[in-house]
Amino acid sequence: MMNEKDIKLIKSIKTPAYIVDKRLLTKNLETLKYVQDQTGCKILLALKGFSMHAVFPLVGEYLAGITSSSLFEAQLGAEYMNKEVHIYAPAYRDDEFDHVLQTCDHIVFNSISQYNRFKARIKNAKKPIQCGLRVNPEYSEVETAIYDPCAPHSRLGTLEKKITHQDLEGIEGLHFHTMCEQQVDTLERTLNVVEEKFGKYLYHMKWLNLGGGHHITRNDYDVERLITLINRIRNQYNIMVYLEPGEAVALNCGYLVTSVLDIVHNGMDIAIIDSSAACHMPDVIEMPYRPHIIHSAKPEQKPYTYRIGGMTCLAGDIIADYAFDHPLKNGDKLIFTDMAHYTMVKNNMFNGINLPLIALMDDQGIQIIREFTYEDYKSRLS
Ligand SMILES: *Cc1c(COP(=O)(O)O)cnc(C)c1O
Repeated sequence: MMNEKDIKLIKSIKTPAYIVDKRLLTKNLETLKYVQDQTGCKILLALKGFSMHAVFPLVGEYLAGITSSSLFEAQLGAEYMNKEVHIYAPAYRDDEFDHVLQTCDHIVFNSISQYNRFKARIKNAKKPIQCGLRVNPEYSEVETAIYDPCAPHSRLGTLEKKITHQDLEGIEGLHFHTMCEQQVDTLERTLNVVEEKFGKYLYHMKWLNLGGGHHITRNDYDVERLITLINRIRNQYNIMVYLEPGEAVALNCGYLVTSVLDIVHNGMDIAIIDSSAACHMPDVIEMPYRPHIIHSAKPEQKPYTYRIGGMTCLAGDIIADYAFDHPLKNGDKLIFTDMAHYTMVKNNMFNGINLPLIALMDDQGIQIIREFTYEDYKSRLS
């Protein structure tokens, strides 16, 4: 739990603001490095979930590199971390591929047809590139359909029946990504299916990438069991194992601090804040989930219950209902927790709402890294 001194510090800065706690990020990185040290595996930061490049040098002290889902992410990782740069995309563009070749050292293809299309260009590239293929084991325990890459008719990954040994000539790694916020037991069951379907190819590969969705830095994650599993895979197939978590790197190490702008009443008390679910925490609507606010409880579990809404005109721009010990008033600060991952990377300026500033916190205090202005808004629109 957070101490009162840090809470006071967070409440002292301009809102809205994303604040990443360097000490907590470091703690996550230490856990991930421990897994690397105990297994010889390599862990990559998936930029899709967390791309705050001000901390890439810190991340690079612990992890092996980054993985990207696009040329821009790859460029960002290469520019600010300069370690291994992997890429996977459902399809690559002809006009970007030379740039992909310059930027990345590992390229994972989604299909054999994509691999065949770009194979010759990889052979002629100025530096060696390792190619991988994403497979779809048709086994996932993800229950939300939009996050399930193994749902019927999924376009993500190649099915077992679509590949032969011949197709895989020149492919040095297999990749799967079928998990989301899950524990090691899900990985064990998934690996069983992957090995059953693709084990015969794994003996000929240099590496296996287990994708993301591993909640390794969550308090109740069984890290030792993950270590045992990775060591078993490494030894059995004599391969390098990669993991590419996004969320687990930045889990529980950031806040979004906001201010109450008004209280209105319509069958209940409603607080409008200087932030927005739609703009600043889109997963609250998309996933959906209920973020925690420090010093709050579920509705009715403390004396004063409010619906917290954002400042856009979208009727559904509601974060959730929360109860507090005291009535809310204008200017009160609300601190949302676990706001480092899938926030900055997904936010937007819908309705002309400015983005939260970005800050870093440590024992020395809070350092503002970036503030956004009207120019940032305007420059994307014409
Ligand atoms: C999203 C994604 C990741 C990261 O997932 P997390 O849930 O943030 O750990 C890794 N690899 C691929 C291919 C992804 O699409």
